[in-house]
Amino acid sequence: MTITIVPRHAPSIQPDDVWLKIGDWLQRHQATIRIVQWTMVLVYCVLLIVPVFLPLPDRAVYLWTNFTRFAQFIFWGVWWPLVLLTTALVGRIWCGILCPEGAITEFASGRGRGRAIPRWLMWPGWPTLAFACTTLYGQMTSVYQYPAPTLLILGGSTLAAALIGLLYGRNKRVWCRYLCPVSGVFGLLAKLAPLHFRVDPPLWQLSQLSGTKPKAINCAPLVPIRTMRGASDCHMCGRCSGFRGAIRLARRSPNHEIVHVAGAAKPWETILIVFGLMGLAVGAFQWSVSPWFVYAKQWMAEWLIENGATWPLEATAPWWVLTNYPQKNDVMTLLDGALLIAYLLAAALACGATTLSLLALAARSLGPWRTQRFHHLAQSLIPLAGAGVFLGLSGLTVSQLRSDGIVLPFVDLLRLATLAMATFWSGVLCWQMTGTYSQQPARRVLALSLVGLAMTPAVAGWVLLFWIW
Ligand code: SF4
Repeated sequence: MTITIVPRHAPSIQPDDVWLKIGDWLQRHQATIRIVQWTMVLVYCVLLIVPVFLPLPDRAVYLWTNFTRFAQFIFWGVWWPLVLLTTALVGRIWCGILCPEGAITEFASGRGRGRAIPRWLMWPGWPTLAFACTTLYGQMTSVYQYPAPTLLILGGSTLAAALIGLLYGRNKRVWCRYLCPVSGVFGLLAKLAPLHFRVDPPLWQLSQLSGTKPKAINCAPLVPIRTMRGASDCHMCGRCSGFRGAIRLARRSPNHEIVHVAGAAKPWETILIVFGLMGLAVGAFQWSVSPWFVYAKQWMAEWLIENGATWPLEATAPWWVLTNYPQKNDVMTLLDGALLIAYLLAAALACGATTLSLLALAARSLGPWRTQRFHHLAQSLIPLAGAGVFLGLSGLTVSQLRSDGIVLPFVDLLRLATLAMATFWSGVLCWQMTGTYSQQPARRVLALSLVGLAMTPAVAGWVLLFWIW
C-alpha cells in the first residue's frame, strides 16, 4: 500500500518563487536565448561595420538622420551605460544572454580545436591589463567619436574572442572568463547585484546521496558551480537552474557578496578598482576638458620652441595610432599624444597611489597587518568606482543628445545624487566589513574615516569634470 502525504494547505507562492520560475524559464528556453544572441550579433555587426563605409558626418546632421551618428549614440551613449547598470542590478545577464562576443566565442569553441587552456592564458591580470590598454588606446584614437577606431577596437576584440574560441575549450567561453577587457569590470559590478544563482550545498549533497545522476550541464564561462558562492563569474545564462534541485535564481542583499564572500585577497581586482576605475578612467573622461592639460601643453610647446625642437608640434601619426582627421579639423600631434598618455597615467598613479595608501592605513587600523583585509577593504569601493564610470559614459549620452538639441532635465541633480549615493554605499559596505574584523568602535570609526578619505581623489576627479571645469 502506498501512503501519500498530502499537505493540509497547498503551499503558498513565496515572493521568491517568481525568481525561481524566471531561472527555470531561462533554463528551459536556451533555444530562444540563442536566437536573441544571434540577433544581437547581427545588430552589432551592422552598427560596427556600416558606418566605416559612410562619409564622416558633418555638424548639420542629427543622430536620427545619420547612421554613423546613430551607431555612435547606440554604442557609447546607450549600450555601454546600460550594460554597466544592468550588471549592477541583475548580474552579468548581458554576458550570458545578449553579448555578441560571448555568443561568437562559444560558437567557435564548439567547432574548433578544443585544446586545453594554457597556464599563461589563466593569468588573473589579463582583464585589468586589457582594460587599461583599451582605455588608453581608445582615447588616443578618439574611439567615441569615429567609426574606424570603434571597428578596430571592438571588432579586434571580437576577432580575438573568436580565435580563442577556435583554439581552446569545447563549447566554452574561455575568452570571457580569462581575457575579455571588460570582464574584470563586470565581475566587480555583479558582486552588487541583488540577484544571483544560489547553490544550496546541503541540497546538493542530498541529491548525491539519493544516487541520482543528472545530465551534465555546460557552464560556458567555466564556473565551478558546486562551490559557487558569488555572482562575479556567473553569466546568468540559467542553464544550471534546478540542477540537482540545489541551484536557483534568488534574491540576496546587494551588500552580502562584498561583505561576506569577497574576502579572499584578489590583488588584480584591487588594482582594477583603485588604479583603473578610480584613476585611469577618471583621467580618460577628464583630459579633453582639463585646464591642467592645456597648461601642460602650452608649457611644453613653449619649451620645445625655445629649444628649437618644433617637430613634436607638427608631426602626426596615422588614425590608428593617434586621432588624425584633417577634414574634421581634428588632428593630434605627437605632443598631444604624448601628453594625453602622460595625463592618463598620472591620473591613474596619483589617484591610485593616494587611495591605496589610505586603504593600507585603514586595514592596519583594524589590527595587525593582514594583506587579505587590505584587499577586502578595496572591495568596499566598488559602488563608487562603478558609479564613476557609469557617470562618465552617461556624460557621453548627455553631450550627444545636447548636440542634437535635446537637453535632459535634472542631469546635474541626478549626477550629484548618483555620486553621493554611491559614496554612501561604499561607506556602508566598509562599515559592515570592519565589523567582521574588529568589535572595537574606535578602530572601526578610524578605518571608516580612512576609507572615506581614500574615496576623495576619485570623487574630486568627477566633481572637477562635471561641476568645475
Ligand atoms: S553558473 Fe554557469 S551555467 Fe549556471 S547560470 Fe552561471 S554561467 Fe550559467
